[in-house]
Amino acid sequence: MKPHNFSAGPSILPEMVFKQAAAAIENFADTGLSILEVSHRGPQFVEVMHRAQTCVKELLGLTDDFDVMFLTGGASTQFFMTAMNLLGSDQIGYYINTGTWSKKAIKEARAFGNIVELASSEEANFNYIPKPNPIPGNGQFLHITSNNTIFGTQYHKWPETKMPIICDASSDIFSRPMPIDKFGCIYAGAQKNMGPAGTTLVILRKDMLGKTDRAIPTMLDYQTHIDKDSAFNTPPVFPIYVSLLVMEWIKEQGGLGMMQEKNEMKAKILYDAIDASSLFEGTAEQEDRSLMNVTFVCKDPDLTSRFLDVCTEEKISGLKGHRSVGGFRASIYNAMPQTSIQHLVDVMKEFERKS
Ligand SMILES: *Cc1c(COP(=O)(O)O)cnc(C)c1O
Repeated sequence: MKPHNFSAGPSILPEMVFKQAAAAIENFADTGLSILEVSHRGPQFVEVMHRAQTCVKELLGLTDDFDVMFLTGGASTQFFMTAMNLLGSDQIGYYINTGTWSKKAIKEARAFGNIVELASSEEANFNYIPKPNPIPGNGQFLHITSNNTIFGTQYHKWPETKMPIICDASSDIFSRPMPIDKFGCIYAGAQKNMGPAGTTLVILRKDMLGKTDRAIPTMLDYQTHIDKDSAFNTPPVFPIYVSLLVMEWIKEQGGLGMMQEKNEMKAKILYDAIDASSLFEGTAEQEDRSLMNVTFVCKDPDLTSRFLDVCTEEKISGLKGHRSVGGFRASIYNAMPQTSIQHLVDVMKEFERKS
């Protein structure tokens, strides 16, 4: 039997998608050729690209005010590409620092404008989402990280601001609906909740561009990729194709509203077990707990490695926490079946009974 995969990323994808992807490696769209060997300018892949862009628009309910791009370089490239393209050197970009990824976004953006860190939860090892109020309105944008993959926190209420929000949604994209008029830009590395590693989704509201006249290298200029439909150069064809399969799976499941309902139900099973336990405890503030990455520890740290050994025996994979939090992190993305979460909870209970 396949292990239960709680890895933070690259991470679990729907079983059906693995099968469809495998089939396309053998025979893509009835061409008799592998998707890995056909031109990205051929009609079959051009259709994949268009379907992928359309799926993003349908799932999130995007109007024509938004462009959808599939780029490379990971979310880490978006840390600077956003500021480089969207911020003039004398303009202000506000950032909320909720963890490792926010910090990196702030560091990279500093090269391009007046970067202000509006709030931070670093003093508490990022175990909550700071909620500055009021938020100044004199910036070009407010940058947030919607889900903090490492620290297990997530925005459940979006910041109140008139500025467009730039959102790193790498680890919770498509996990729930988003109030799209609040956002100027949403970006996400595919490998957490959308697909395999190798492509980055960038959603950009058209009026975000044109605020800076700095010289931007062609490949780092959003306009290049908008004008050429993400095929200025060879796009990462296979990660885009598999991401499309995942998006189609989400649509079949009932869309983002249904995803949210399922994700809330799944996370509750695990958080309830953690809260009921005398041996385990959660690390994030209750109201900011992530539905995607559940971080918890053993109250007695000596038990940590013993529990991880038990997990290995019980075919639970990828549960070790990030070194900056320790303990455990159960990443329970869209594709994680409820039965796997129930299995983890059963193993936790049995471990507690025996300890
Ligand atoms: C994983 C992750 C990143 C980094 O993504 P790369 O694609 O590896 O650059 C950035 N932000 C968040 C929230 C992440 O979870």
